[in-house]
Amino acid sequence: METPGSQSSLHRANLERVVRAVRLAGSLTQAEIARTTGLSAATVSNIVRELKDGGTVEVTPTSAGGRRARSVSLSGDAGIVIGVDFGHTHLRVAVGNLAHQVLAEESEPLDVDASAAQGFDRAEQLVSRLIAVTGVDRAKIAGIGLGVPGPIDVESGTLGSTSILPGWTGTKPAEELKDRLGVPVHVDNDANLGALGELVWGSGRGVKDLAYIKVASGVGAGLVISGRIYRGPGGTAGEIGHITLDESGPVCRCGNRGCLETFTAARYVLPLLQSSHGTELTMERVVSLAREGDPGCRRVIADVGRHIGSGVANLCNLLNPSRVVLGGDLAEAGELVLGPIRESVGRYAIPSAARQLSVLPGALGGRAEVLGALALALSEMGDSTLLDGSLPTTAPAFT
Ligand SMILES: [Zn+2]
Repeated sequence: METPGSQSSLHRANLERVVRAVRLAGSLTQAEIARTTGLSAATVSNIVRELKDGGTVEVTPTSAGGRRARSVSLSGDAGIVIGVDFGHTHLRVAVGNLAHQVLAEESEPLDVDASAAQGFDRAEQLVSRLIAVTGVDRAKIAGIGLGVPGPIDVESGTLGSTSILPGWTGTKPAEELKDRLGVPVHVDNDANLGALGELVWGSGRGVKDLAYIKVASGVGAGLVISGRIYRGPGGTAGEIGHITLDESGPVCRCGNRGCLETFTAARYVLPLLQSSHGTELTMERVVSLAREGDPGCRRVIADVGRHIGSGVANLCNLLNPSRVVLGGDLAEAGELVLGPIRESVGRYAIPSAARQLSVLPGALGGRAEVLGALALALSEMGDSTLLDGSLPTTAPAFT
């Protein structure tokens, strides 16, 4: 037994701090590790050497600011994480290692709303197939991150809403998947995972305060505050789609009137174009027509941008984020939507709250959520198990 405060327990705590910093960032130079952990350069140097000798980390030469440096990452074969993302119409799975490398990724169409049981069956099959394709050792799976397109009750892990995923009401997605795959599963909603994905791999790299806004069948935001996802006590934080913009506006599915969603989500926006452009339109098609110069589609996209910008201005006043990342199909519209967003932010936000803000399109497109699921699995796995060489399986994996 180690006594708290003893030399050896302090050393152990330092080892865990370094491993955690590298695990969350993917790779860091020794100077960055020192900055992140608050440890001295000499201590970091000694710890990195010890971890390298033990096979926990790999060290590769790199350059930082024109100077030679050493980049530290977890060993690729130290463990495996898996991301599973359920959209309304697709299932996507990615297999990655602890060095933040994606080893395999695949997406298939799936009517996710229809049946939760069928969704979990297909996820189990796709995970098993990708494990086979990559040839990784199943015993090395450290955890699974799982994304669902609906609100998760933080305490019970239950999918809450009856209107968003009717076939899933009352299910506990993380437990369902854990029972099937025998490894720890961590669940979150798609907007939070999109935020994590962009933060670790995409347009949010290097910032600590970020909002990821996804406009799809609904409008949601994933909020990162001081480097961590902010969920709120009930897991409902980020419901930006239900900010009231117009008290006498259209009735929203939440029962209020004039929510941001009623001016921006596909189900409300597409009907505006149906008499001029036909009834087969999708948001993807509207975006591509707008890019080709179609004046009606351009007008609609610009209006959507202005309304999102009002919501973003509210966010700026409350949270003062340094970056807003727009995800979903709408991000493909580029400046056609980003320009009007910035214009509204300039008009409605307190100048000091928006001064440092940059509004960028997501860099990961439809992969943001599954990569966020990988990031969730990486952030939730413990370091003590990694340092002791045994991964936290809850049962024999994939019997
Ligand atoms: Zn609403």
